[in-house]
Amino acid sequence: MADTILFDNGTHRNILLEDSGSSGSAVQANQHLIVHNDEAMLLDPGGHKVYSQVLTKTYSALGRARLRYLFLSHQDPDIVAAVNGWLMTTDATAYISSLWLRFVPHFGLDHLLEDRLRGIPDEGMIFEMGGESLYALPAHFLHSVGNMQIYDPVSKILYTGDLGAALGMEYFEVADFDAHLKYMEGFHRRYMTGNRAMSLWADMVRNLDIEIIAPQHGALFRGKPMVKRFIDWAGSLQCGIDVMAHLYKVPAAAPAR
Ligand code: FE
Repeated sequence: MADTILFDNGTHRNILLEDSGSSGSAVQANQHLIVHNDEAMLLDPGGHKVYSQVLTKTYSALGRARLRYLFLSHQDPDIVAAVNGWLMTTDATAYISSLWLRFVPHFGLDHLLEDRLRGIPDEGMIFEMGGESLYALPAHFLHSVGNMQIYDPVSKILYTGDLGAALGMEYFEVADFDAHLKYMEGFHRRYMTGNRAMSLWADMVRNLDIEIIAPQHGALFRGKPMVKRFIDWAGSLQCGIDVMAHLYKVPAAAPAR
């Protein structure tokens, strides 16, 4: 797949970078770039396996714009592991939930770069970029305890990180929601914390004008009917602690092999 332009109005572009083919057992991951005028934000840049490829693709997609922000939706290695390299090779500032600021340096963040890793408060925040506002929305417990999503009001794209993630399909855009469920249901039931968080999130984003929901893994949801279907599904899903209470038992004695 070549780079996919999700939106372009001449001054504002949203680009899904060509799949960098997380090899072997590593989970497939999407990298998204938002460019407005001469500034850009890269979302969830990824780990070491894809770092050099994503860096090359980012520079070619940037054109004359400069990378101002690295947005990290949460602390997982497929998002954060290569942040030291990104901070060394660009002059961008990285943002992640304040909860994770003291954990990310364990991925090997040079202490000289630590002031370019900043915290997003629990309430979320607004990024100014080239004259546009990008909204960091709280999506805590979906799945991480400190979890943020980006809403771009120009392209009307909501970048949902692990929410909406799907594994194992060949397409990059959902055409049949019901047929797509089998690729995302198991992941959401196990990784998302519970229905209370899901329904609060659904209530928050239902009021936004959204044309595309773009997760960090798998396929995106395009068009208002498809977006609504996803939000309705997510908001009513029983998951996490809703369905796992029965597992809280000491395992029966049997030696590990
Ligand atoms: Fe994750």
